[in-house]
Amino acid sequence: MRTYGCYIDGEERQASDRRTFESEEPATGLTYALVAAATAADVDDAVAAAGNAFAPGSEWRTLAPSARGRLMMRLADAIAQRAEGLAELESRETGKLYKEQLIQLQSVPNWLYYFGGLADKIEGRVIPVPRQSILNYTVREPFGVVAIIKSWNSPALGAFWSAAPALACGNTVVIKPSELASASLVEIAKLATEAGFPPGVFNVVTGGSEVGAALTAHAGVAKISFTGGTGTGRRIAEAAGSHGAHVTLELGGKSANIVCADANLDAAQSGVLAGIFAAAGQTCVAGSRLLIDRRIAEDFVARLAERVATIRIGDPMDPSVEMGPLVSARQLERVESLVNAAVDAGAAVLTGGEREHVSDSPGGHYYRPTILTDLGPQSEIAQTEVFGPVLAVLPFDDDAHAIEIANSTPFGLGAGIWTSDVQRAHTLARQLDAGTVWINTYRATAFNSPFGGFKESGVGRENGAEAIDQYLQTKSVWCELSIEARDPFVMQT
Ligand code: NAD
Repeated sequence: MRTYGCYIDGEERQASDRRTFESEEPATGLTYALVAAATAADVDDAVAAAGNAFAPGSEWRTLAPSARGRLMMRLADAIAQRAEGLAELESRETGKLYKEQLIQLQSVPNWLYYFGGLADKIEGRVIPVPRQSILNYTVREPFGVVAIIKSWNSPALGAFWSAAPALACGNTVVIKPSELASASLVEIAKLATEAGFPPGVFNVVTGGSEVGAALTAHAGVAKISFTGGTGTGRRIAEAAGSHGAHVTLELGGKSANIVCADANLDAAQSGVLAGIFAAAGQTCVAGSRLLIDRRIAEDFVARLAERVATIRIGDPMDPSVEMGPLVSARQLERVESLVNAAVDAGAAVLTGGEREHVSDSPGGHYYRPTILTDLGPQSEIAQTEVFGPVLAVLPFDDDAHAIEIANSTPFGLGAGIWTSDVQRAHTLARQLDAGTVWINTYRATAFNSPFGGFKESGVGRENGAEAIDQYLQTKSVWCELSIEARDPFVMQT
């Protein structure tokens, strides 16, 4: 059996009390690895190591920004070389398709190249304050220790959405991967040391919510970057507030995929499938609400259901499989109970609505791709993030109605628009409360395009040059150039 420790101060180590927890393979329900269950003492050690690595005069603090960027690029190369092995680890631990995780791991280097390239382009400004004898300028400085707490669904890629800009700015990091997907980050921490990162710059603590809570409450943590559920995000914001840490929050969603009658309907069908059934619906931007023009609803949804019924479910390592299992027995039960409650409330199951039994993996957590109709926009299933392969179909009468439905949840992460009318597309895009709007595409992201949530879907932005701002604080320096003594009893302007 594989075992994984925490990675603190440049070395992998067991938990201080040597306890471990089991990491399960969702496709089989069998234990895949034993992982160190970090203690509060381990969290203290990791934060201390990251604090020491950030101390004035340390190797990391005195490294030229360009050299910092080059270190990041070396790590990118090492990850690129190991992408296949890391993707297999992630696929086994999360149950997500190997082919999807391979693309994710092959993309991680792009984040390190892009933000590594920005490391020596972080500049302040000279401000023309009213008093002309003053030289006033700003310096943009790293916070110090950044805690990065991540959801399980994109373990390494998600971590580097935060770690790449944080490191580029000169911070040090303590990453807590999800307890459901620890392995790839521990392996990558080793690669960071091999690439030349000084000990303590890149730390990983493994464990569950108690480890995350110890980290977010730690006075030595200056900034928290969190990705996960909206409820957890609220708790993290409270913990951060208790000791003045800054936060970036990437939270849940209930995204609308809007299909207009004038859309290319083949492309729209493919986009709707990608939105909700890729990764078995376990993506933050899942297009879990299909908003469909009432005039084409019946035909479109019938064709969609036909295709959905043929989705190949099974072993995520099999390249012909289209949908793997849900991540855990708990998540399977949650999805099942939400669908059952929707049916009890009057929804109709067009396809799916039950577990899938994969004969060679009887212990796997499989659920059939599910389409629900006959429900209202305010019904629980149309308002709650399911994080599973469940699509709620909501017909609309005109564009204003589509916008009203789309904006009627507390979330605002993503939205899709399918139309051939360019004016309509951009008019709708302006009216949607969402951090990302896709027109005639869905679920696309890139290292250089900002990503984040409106409303309860988040605070701050990742990706793109503005992500750098999340990991810097501005210092304003005032220097008097005249030698004239001033009246000490009036404010200096
Ligand atoms: P989760 O909120 O259960 O857990 C996320 C992380 O927080 C885990 O590492 C967990 O151990 C930790 N955690 C839990 N309680 C904590 C606490 N009190 N203090 C500190 N840490 C704590 O989420 P999940 O089930 O892993 O992931 C699914 C959720 O993540 C969905 O809501 C999804 O939409 C969201 N997500 C959002 C984005 C985005 O970019 N907006 C991306 C991926 C996933």
